Amino acid sequence: MITRTPIAVHCEEVVSPPAVTSWQRQLGDVIRDPAELCRRLDLEPTALLGANTGHALFPVRVPEAYLKRIRRGDPDDPLLRQVLPVAAEAEPTPGFVDDPLAESAHTPKAGLIHKYAGRVLLIASPTCAINCRYCFRRHFPYADNAPSLREWDDTLDYLRADASIHEAILSGGDPLASPDRRLASLVERLGAIAHLKRLRIHTRLPVVIPDRVDEELLAWLRATRLQKVIVLHINHAQEIDDDVIAACRRLQAAGATLLNQSVLLRGVNDDVGTLSALSERLFEAGVLPYYLHVLDPVTGAAHFDISDDDARTLVAELRKTLPGFLMPRLVREIPDEASKTPL
Ligand SMILES: *Cc1c(COP(=O)(O)O)cnc(C)c1O
Ligand code: SF4
Repeated sequence: MITRTPIAVHCEEVVSPPAVTSWQRQLGDVIRDPAELCRRLDLEPTALLGANTGHALFPVRVPEAYLKRIRRGDPDDPLLRQVLPVAAEAEPTPGFVDDPLAESAHTPKAGLIHKYAGRVLLIASPTCAINCRYCFRRHFPYADNAPSLREWDDTLDYLRADASIHEAILSGGDPLASPDRRLASLVERLGAIAHLKRLRIHTRLPVVIPDRVDEELLAWLRATRLQKVIVLHINHAQEIDDDVIAACRRLQAAGATLLNQSVLLRGVNDDVGTLSALSERLFEAGVLPYYLHVLDPVTGAAHFDISDDDARTLVAELRKTLPGFLMPRLVREIPDEASKTPL
């Protein structure tokens, strides 16, 4: 590292922002404009009409590293469909609501959701690197649920006081959108709670910006005494490029068990070949399939929905193509149930 001499005080460099690491720059440089997204992917101008409608409801957000994996000029690309808004998002659909999981009823402290025995979910970051159109938290009141470091103490009191809690799950938004300084401090405080055994992190960041898995992240991950489980969110094999595989290897080398959850999405991964290829590709990355969720009925996402019967048929067919350990569990989240519900 070069130490600057005092003369630098008079140089322009001093007023420029401090150097940011590559993932932070990538997080700042995401595509936020539907017109730019369409232009960069050589899409017909007609795609933009619907995109603007959906964008007004839930803004476009696509990292460059993810854009790279989308085929140009193909409006049906399975990765594009996860990020490009469509006009149908504005159509109200019976049964589709803003808070489909009724999570606000299970929030005893800001940023904490306690629904299941032994596990609590902490909203460790209000933001995401990518905005997925099917997201069940697209209407989540993050502004009210993003504790500052000091407020975490109050939230963590809840964990300290309940010895039945063995697992802290970092969620969001995307927990890894937070700076490592913040995460390291939070994880250190979690590690100090004697009855906690596991740290689980639900994240899409290593997938959408693989450079997120840098030395700073790995340092706090390695340092904790807690057992580490990282649940990635990958819906299609095309999302797993060599950079994602390398990021997974780094996480594993730091002692994390890697699992994946997907959402069953019409037009993205609702066929046996696609789901089978996803499981195979996940295993190449050292990741085991965990859950295949049916869509949560959130306003604006009804066009991704698949009936329960179709989902069951699909999974029965999938079982004929894969070894048992590559089969995800087909589940639904039902408000007020004590666990995810198998279909
Ligand atoms: C899904 C979920 C969990 C974790 O459930 P597992 O079945 O252990 O993966 C915990 N808390 C909440 C609120 C959840 O939605
Ligand atoms: S990364 Fe997860 S929480 Fe964030 S928008 Fe996508 S689905 Fe929602």
